Amino acid sequence: MATSRQIIAGNLESVRSRMADACRRSTRDASSVRLVAVTKAVGGDEAKSLVELGALDLGENRVPDGIAKMDALDDESVRWHMIGHLQRRKVRHAVGRFAMLHSVDSVRLLDEIEKRSAAAGVVTDILAEVNVSAEEAKYGLQPGEAPSFCEAAARCDNVRLSGLMTMAPFVDDPEDARHVFSALRELLEGLNGQSACSQKLSELSMGMTNDFEVAIEEGATIVRIGTALYC
Ligand SMILES: *Cc1c(COP(=O)(O)O)cnc(C)c1O
Repeated sequence: MATSRQIIAGNLESVRSRMADACRRSTRDASSVRLVAVTKAVGGDEAKSLVELGALDLGENRVPDGIAKMDALDDESVRWHMIGHLQRRKVRHAVGRFAMLHSVDSVRLLDEIEKRSAAAGVVTDILAEVNVSAEEAKYGLQPGEAPSFCEAAARCDNVRLSGLMTMAPFVDDPEDARHVFSALRELLEGLNGQSACSQKLSELSMGMTNDFEVAIEEGATIVRIGTALYC
């Protein structure tokens, strides 16, 4: 059964206020963190409720599901984020439809996005997914591969690399994920210092239901939250 708009409204308000509290604790401006409301586990009704409630950044982890929902919702004001593992053969469907691809984790995939974006006459915003917790995550660049990935992205005319994304391992105590988030921030600062990238990286997409407050304290500019909005 669909989660009612009323329940989503209460949850959204609570998530937003927890985000604001985390910003206050870390002396950050509340406007410096964007919420991507993840709709992968819910249907079109919940997505519609979110949009009516002003959550205009929506996240999906599979390209066909995302496209089905964006077609059903048919609302130009929504920015769709592709947050899950992206397969090369799905790139041509994703380009031009998603506002941002969060999970680009190889130069091969980058090249495909460049090729398809050029063909479509668009510039695609991407993030590089980095596996900073080595053994745990399935996908992502190794931190040591990030500089050469940035250099490859700098050569692309139709791709704009605007930051980094990571998935922290699932832990009971979100404090145990803090080092993952700080490592991603330090990697971004290091890349900006090396000027491997054509433009300064500004986005850090990190933090989910279980750990978003810690991620904000460590510098997240985008949090991706699903579960907390629907329960
Ligand atoms: C599902 C998902 C999320 C949201 O997770 P919740 O724990 O439901 O908040 C965030 N990021 C990615 C990549 C996901 O697949």
